[in-house]
Amino acid sequence: MASLIRCPHCGMRPKEEFSIRGDASPVRPKPEAKFAAWDDYLHSRDNVRGVMHEHWQHVGGCRRWLVVERDTFTHEVHSVVDAADYARARAVKPSKVKPKGKTATAAKGRAKS
Ligand SMILES: [Zn+2]
Repeated sequence: MASLIRCPHCGMRPKEEFSIRGDASPVRPKPEAKFAAWDDYLHSRDNVRGVMHEHWQHVGGCRRWLVVERDTFTHEVHSVVDAADYARARAVKPSKVKPKGKTATAAKGRAKS
């Protein structure tokens, strides 16, 4: 049974078409930030057991960067949004992690050929 991810641009696609980059929550420091801020941004990551936001790229489709809300324990995907929409939502309201706008949920099942 193949897992399917709903790309906001391409629709339901097999998860094998996607590449995972990792945690989407770190915020890039300003260029003039201290060394410790850059060190933390580049090297420190939480080992989350539960729901987190991750950067995924749809390499086998539109090649867009996405932010996937996924449970790292159950592997259930809760939502998928375009990374640009996610970044815009965070820029407006930094305390809000979940962006408004185009959201798609994932489903599990067989890919249609
Ligand atoms: Zn796509």
